[in-house]
Amino acid sequence: MIEMTIYGRGGQGGVTLAKLIANAYFLEGKHVQAFGVYAAERSGAPLQAYVRIDDVEITNHNQIRTPDHVIVLDRTLTTPCVLTGHKPDGWVILNSPEPPDAFAELFPGRQVATIDATTIAVTNGLGTRTVPIVNTTMLGAVGRVLGLTLDDVTGALAEVNFGGGNITAATRAFETVRAERLAGAVAAPATPPKAGKIMGLLDDEVGGHPRIHTGDWTTRQPHRQQLAPPCNNGCPAGNDVRGFVEAMAKGDHNEALRILLETSPLPGVCGRVCPAPCMDACNRQEFDESINIRELERFAADEGHPHVAIRGVGEPHRWRDETVAVVGSGPAGLSAAYHLARLAYRVTLLERDSELGGVMRTGIPAYRLPRDVLDREIKFIVDHGIEVKTGTSVDQEELLRLTHSFSAVFVGTGLQHLRSVDLGNGSAEAGDKTVEQGLAFLDRIRVDPESLTGLHVIVIGGGNTAMDAARSARRLGAKVEVVYRRTREQMPAIREEIEEAVEEGIVLRELVSPVRLRHDGVGPLLTCVRMRLGEPDDSGRPRPEQETSEDAYFDMRCDRVLLALGQSSDLSILPEGSEVRNQESLLGLTGAPVFAGGDFAANDGTVTAAIGSGRSTAWHIHRTLSGEDLFPPPAEAVAGSDVLHTHVFSHAPRAESKTLSMKERRQSFTEVRSGLSAADNSVEAVAEAGRCFSCGVCTVCDRCMDYCPEGILLRSGGGYEVDFEYCKGCGICAAECPRGVIYMADL
Ligand code: FAD
Repeated sequence: MIEMTIYGRGGQGGVTLAKLIANAYFLEGKHVQAFGVYAAERSGAPLQAYVRIDDVEITNHNQIRTPDHVIVLDRTLTTPCVLTGHKPDGWVILNSPEPPDAFAELFPGRQVATIDATTIAVTNGLGTRTVPIVNTTMLGAVGRVLGLTLDDVTGALAEVNFGGGNITAATRAFETVRAERLAGAVAAPATPPKAGKIMGLLDDEVGGHPRIHTGDWTTRQPHRQQLAPPCNNGCPAGNDVRGFVEAMAKGDHNEALRILLETSPLPGVCGRVCPAPCMDACNRQEFDESINIRELERFAADEGHPHVAIRGVGEPHRWRDETVAVVGSGPAGLSAAYHLARLAYRVTLLERDSELGGVMRTGIPAYRLPRDVLDREIKFIVDHGIEVKTGTSVDQEELLRLTHSFSAVFVGTGLQHLRSVDLGNGSAEAGDKTVEQGLAFLDRIRVDPESLTGLHVIVIGGGNTAMDAARSARRLGAKVEVVYRRTREQMPAIREEIEEAVEEGIVLRELVSPVRLRHDGVGPLLTCVRMRLGEPDDSGRPRPEQETSEDAYFDMRCDRVLLALGQSSDLSILPEGSEVRNQESLLGLTGAPVFAGGDFAANDGTVTAAIGSGRSTAWHIHRTLSGEDLFPPPAEAVAGSDVLHTHVFSHAPRAESKTLSMKERRQSFTEVRSGLSAADNSVEAVAEAGRCFSCGVCTVCDRCMDYCPEGILLRSGGGYEVDFEYCKGCGICAAECPRGVIYMADL
């Protein structure tokens, strides 16, 4: 984007010049914007006009604060003030008979161009010597300095029927403008800016304050607050969702990834499998559709470079003396190990299986989470200097041993007890493979996929395991039915998983419960009973009750039955009498403190929650071992949709990931979603991130400043300052703040 500020006086044609410059670029196929500061066009009064030029649509309508180029139409305005916000490599184009180096003291180190526009304009009959109309002459000079052709300049004039003296004056200026970079170091403007300030009636000098301190009249004043964005508040991993989305909107994937990696080392995983409570919390869904945060996270993880994003990875560390053993390498254990290693603890990660990853590897199928993504992120974690011991099962005795050889122990062994159901003797009769735990099936077929073509598979359950077992069996060629004792509404599986399972041809049999399995000589038959919903049970969901009618029982022919009835923690690893408290040290042990996290401790049942639990447990361990408290202060109030002013935003549809064709989905374990496109400089992802409202957090959009009728709200540091001497408490800044950052408070 190129931005220009024009300084002139009313009557000289500054606003028209802005429009002419914009016109010349528009004819070149650019997006343009040109406007003046309102109510300042009295003849002789100082005014500013602005031009924006870009290759893409321009959505920013604020006044320009940091122009690339400044153009000064009137000699009396040629002061250091015009350099306010000016970028040092831009041009200062002056209406002056002097050569550029005459301004060496005023504008040292800047690129300065001069043209005697007043003389040229008057000579060509444009205005009078007291009020010369210099706009078309200046257009010629500006066009030449900024690399436009003479045709561009004359074309822009012809477009608005400016002929005669305008053309000759512009051509003369084009041919005679003088331009050079002045000697000396670039200096900041010597005096504070006056431009942009709206004059009161009682002003006795331009730029001065009114004599009456009108702020005394007010009964209320604007204040600023920072609120917690609802997405941040809803993220179980504790991610700064708004922050990473803001970086994405700037096209800075590395920065987005850096922000994510501060809290979660598995953004590529979460960007694929997280149920995204942040999206459920997003205020934008009341406006049109929530931001596609999950896809943006995936994009940052896949397109950003983690080793650029986090400095120091792989570099020699000054390790602390304390060591920590982490038992279990699911998302909880990996997250705890990562955060502890970043805090310079020597970590040993002990895993029973031959590979790391927990349920992410053994349960979640590759069509939702490709193994190369998981491997890439696990490698990144382990590269932080973590010692890994796979094939190491830790029991109670070993755990106690660990407490004597490490400074602290983290237990994140997940849910190892699989619930089952008694289907009678028939399940044994039916053969070893007929009834299988869904999780065992998922783990088995990922290593050794078998063909189920022509077989009828019944899956019992309504959670993620049920959906993944059903969708995997479908991919292996089976006809699949899912039997669930409540209704689809109450299924604990992730919503999208249920929808995608149904799309893939899986039949959901709601309000049905299995009773027994038998063999009738032809093959296995599963007898089921119909259910109805009763009063809510302890889980808050309606209790399923058996129908009592005569036709309540019925048989389903099947070849395989997969059980997906839920899991629970295996507490046998802990010494008897230990009380598991999420993230807190277990009491009653003699050696080093033992902490528990992830599903083992809390059974929150999501990867993201396990990551969050792993991180905060790591911080608990750090606080115990070092005394340092890394926990942030309590979060601010959450920015609800009621504090936003959404009239500022435009409606825009959500960008969605492309998906495989249904035929491919039914036949292969290739990833179903391919994510947002990275084509054209990631324009899709950048636009999607740009839909974010940034609820409760100031983005320095200048709207409060631009709408302040008194002109007493100005940029200061990274935010704004109100001159309360003159603030009448009108509340327009608060009403125009899109994000609920400014609010009015009574005095
Ligand atoms: P786990 O991932 O279970 O990891 C525990 C680890 O400890 C394992 O590697 C295990 O081998 C190891 N271990 C166990 N005992 C010992 C021992 N004695 N010694 C050493 N190591 C041991 N969540 C989502 O957010 N999105 C999804 O799409 C999703 N899909 C799912 C699909 C399925 C089939 C299942 C079962 C769960 C799914 N979940 C999903 C839930 C999510 O996977 C879990 O909540 C999460 O993995 C829990 O992480 P964890 O680290 O606590 O435990």
